[in-house]
Amino acid sequence: MDISKLNQTLIEEPIFRLKQAKRAVFVNLVDNWDQTTNFSKKLRDELNKNCPISIKAEFLKSIKSDSLKALITLSDGLKIETVLLSHGVGRNTICLSSQVGCAIGCSFCATGKRGFKRNLTAEEMIEQIILFARLLKKRNQRVNNVVFMGMGEPFLNYDNVLKTIKILNNKDYFNIGARHISISTIGIIDGIKKLATQSLQINLAISLHAPNNNLRAQIIPINKQYPLDKIINAINYYINKTNRRVMIEYVMIKDFNDSVEQARQLIELLKQISKPLYFVNLIFCNSITEFKPSEKDKIKQFREILVKQKIETTLRYSFGQDIQAACGQLIGS
Ligand code: SF4
Repeated sequence: MDISKLNQTLIEEPIFRLKQAKRAVFVNLVDNWDQTTNFSKKLRDELNKNCPISIKAEFLKSIKSDSLKALITLSDGLKIETVLLSHGVGRNTICLSSQVGCAIGCSFCATGKRGFKRNLTAEEMIEQIILFARLLKKRNQRVNNVVFMGMGEPFLNYDNVLKTIKILNNKDYFNIGARHISISTIGIIDGIKKLATQSLQINLAISLHAPNNNLRAQIIPINKQYPLDKIINAINYYINKTNRRVMIEYVMIKDFNDSVEQARQLIELLKQISKPLYFVNLIFCNSITEFKPSEKDKIKQFREILVKQKIETTLRYSFGQDIQAACGQLIGS
């Protein structure tokens, strides 16, 4: 799919034609311009030639959960992965990729090990939504939630991610409420601060994954540039500006960051957040690298220590591990 030349192709058409074309792709979810029978044959042919809307993708379905992973081949041949998580009746979340690969190189993450190729355009991010929206339409369902937690660091592709969110949020197109859209960042300070100034009610998740800098630097190389004190300052800035809750993500890695002492260190760190507008999400580590998931008892104990200090703490057991579609497993192959 490549709709980057849509404006150019429709330049000599009346202005309303562009809106009609976008509605055909984003709302009616057509997968060939021939289905836009209100357009002339000549225009449909031109659109099919300049702005193809078929999507080249392969699917992998989880047998253990309602997860479906897609491997999309982009117009330049590069590949990205995106995941549909269906929970309950008609609740569908898409885990979107924002980059081909990732430059951050976190050592527990398969995407990071693959290296960075390029940023995705807004159209390429929307393509991931359209792919699953077309499938869901057949079940009379729609995409309800979008999380930028797939391949890449969204704040290193800030402008395109924001452009994508505005299209998703647009009532004339996908009409996905801002509160149903989340960005997860490894802690890119500039991105957190920039987002704080937007009047968008989207959710922000920040990956700490360790309670002190020594430990964090061992798994997240960019911790040297963005250490924990700077991240806490950015969280305070964000919360003070927006009055919105932040999700603190913490991946539970066996014998690395899951001890009682480390839970206490995390509590001390979180005390530096100026308002209690946060909660902790403990994430089950998916063992695709040398890091192994914490024992369930250890996770339970870690959680209880936080909860005793009145820190709201949720657990995320990953879906789609069997198809390598869970957190940190997307690799694009
Ligand atoms: Fe990049 Fe996120 Fe993976 Fe780190 S965890 S390498 S930021 S995709």
